[in-house]
Amino acid sequence: MPAITNKNENLYDVIIIGGGPAGLTAAIYLARAAYRVLVIEKESFGGQITITEEIVNYPGVIRCSGEELTARMKQQGENFGAEYLLDEVLNIDTQGDIKTVRTSTGEFLCFGILIATGAHPRVLGFEGEEQFKGRGVAYCATCDGEFFKGREVFVVGGGYAAAQESVFLTKYARQVTILIREEDFTCAKAVADKARSNEKIRVLTQVVVERVEGDEALTSITYRNLRTNETVTYHAPIGERIGVFVFAGYEPATKLVRDIVELSEQGYVVTDRNQQTTIDGLYAAGDICVKSLRQVVTAVGDGALAATELERYASKMQQKTGLIPEKADAGHAVQSPAQTQKTSVEASELFAADIDAKLREIFEKMEHPMILELFLEENVLSRELNDYMTHLAHMTDKLELKYNAVHEMEELPCVRICRKDGIWTGLAFHGVPGGHEFSSFLMGLYHAASNQVLPEQERIMRISVPVHIRVMVTLSCNMCPDVVVAAQQMAAANANITADIYDIAQYPALQEKYRIMSVPCIVINDGTPHFGRKDSGELLALVEAAAAESVV
Ligand code: FAD
Repeated sequence: MPAITNKNENLYDVIIIGGGPAGLTAAIYLARAAYRVLVIEKESFGGQITITEEIVNYPGVIRCSGEELTARMKQQGENFGAEYLLDEVLNIDTQGDIKTVRTSTGEFLCFGILIATGAHPRVLGFEGEEQFKGRGVAYCATCDGEFFKGREVFVVGGGYAAAQESVFLTKYARQVTILIREEDFTCAKAVADKARSNEKIRVLTQVVVERVEGDEALTSITYRNLRTNETVTYHAPIGERIGVFVFAGYEPATKLVRDIVELSEQGYVVTDRNQQTTIDGLYAAGDICVKSLRQVVTAVGDGALAATELERYASKMQQKTGLIPEKADAGHAVQSPAQTQKTSVEASELFAADIDAKLREIFEKMEHPMILELFLEENVLSRELNDYMTHLAHMTDKLELKYNAVHEMEELPCVRICRKDGIWTGLAFHGVPGGHEFSSFLMGLYHAASNQVLPEQERIMRISVPVHIRVMVTLSCNMCPDVVVAAQQMAAANANITADIYDIAQYPALQEKYRIMSVPCIVINDGTPHFGRKDSGELLALVEAAAAESVV
């Protein structure tokens, strides 16, 4: 390894893995204390709480969405000079004074590490759960609730999330039945009461799900009463489908530290009262830790405590090594060493005060001018897309608008990204790329306009037959952008690959055709839909399989 100096731009006092409430809070404290801190987040800054529409139990905030609350936390850290990177941490090396954090695109060095990777939904394992995942079995009400408008919905679980999300689901569902294994809800009474008193909610206790069944979509659920051992099957009326939302707790995301630190029997990271793990310089905060209450308020408390300890640790290491990481001029987005293909720019940031500055930053980096080719109709959605694209085009001379004949395109409105010579790059968005898709649309534009070499470039370039990827998303889904960006990168790199992205809420016919009840939904060459988050490697494997099939 070359000698490390203060000027090493990849040297940090502390690296925080995970941009949920715990990590974002620690960044505020560390940056405010003038330490150089980097937060690396693999999906979407804000963490789990961004999937909930309403938080009412965070002190000082009467009511707001998870996304709003955490966007403010991030902004607060940025104001103090914290740096942020959208990338996945693959492994860490905690040996020695200077630790290494490896991401999917580069390597970073630091004195201290805070692991705040939170938790992900627990799969229950009842018969049919895996088979109908994305086709009726769901884990995120905000992302998938709208697919069950006027339908019968079952919620499995009796904790905080189950009670809260059931109330949210009544916005769409005809009726919500909560199936609780225990004798009662296991969350605070006030939250349970809100669910219990909702006239569209029915609560069944001491029941377990035995199985779910259906054809292309989910049409029945069978549950067993633990008191009487009786089983009951609910069948949807003919031609209808049901939704089963599982909120049965979370599994700690400990993959990175599983073989390094002590874990509890349940798999949570064991820390001392100051959030230190069993490894020197490695701290943990938030839902990943052993604790009795997993909420935003405790996650931010852990983050603050860990940060204060890490300040001391980093200061000690600065003295020991003689290295003082130099803070960047201002916080914000970081490009990892090999990562120029990710812009680290989030939609929420762009819509915040400095929207124009961020957009200009992206336009600046575009290596070629591009054309935004619009296919519009006479309706509100088309006008919205037109306004949106016109605004972008007015901001830079690298973008030009072109209007095209409607009859050439299905699923309107649509914007296609074309080269200056008018040739389509293979990237298209149907609908208006707002919400979480704002940043992925910009990333797509950037990739199409730049000569990026992707980590899997060779494999991507080996695709020698036409492959058409369709990604169906909702604008509120925070798992969708990863898939969208991966699809767009492949399309931008190889002319044989095309990627059409759809805001599925606008295209009920597609929803019906592919029986979409969860997003992201990926359809390649009009084959069987694939549901759920996929990283670029997983998507590439699907593309390769489809290419191989079409050769045969
Ligand atoms: P998370 O929020 O889980 O954040 C961890 C982050 O780490 C994630 O963004 C993840 O993408 C990232 N990450 C994981 N692995 C890697 C990696 N290898 N590289 C980079 N990044 C990685 N709490 C309340 O106080 N009030 C509520 O009303 C409330 N409602 C909720 C409703 C729902 C539906 C859910 C699911 C939870 C709710 N909670 C609520 C709980 C709250 O969301 C959590 O307690 C809190 O988000 C935990 O924060 P965290 O920072 O520890 O972890």
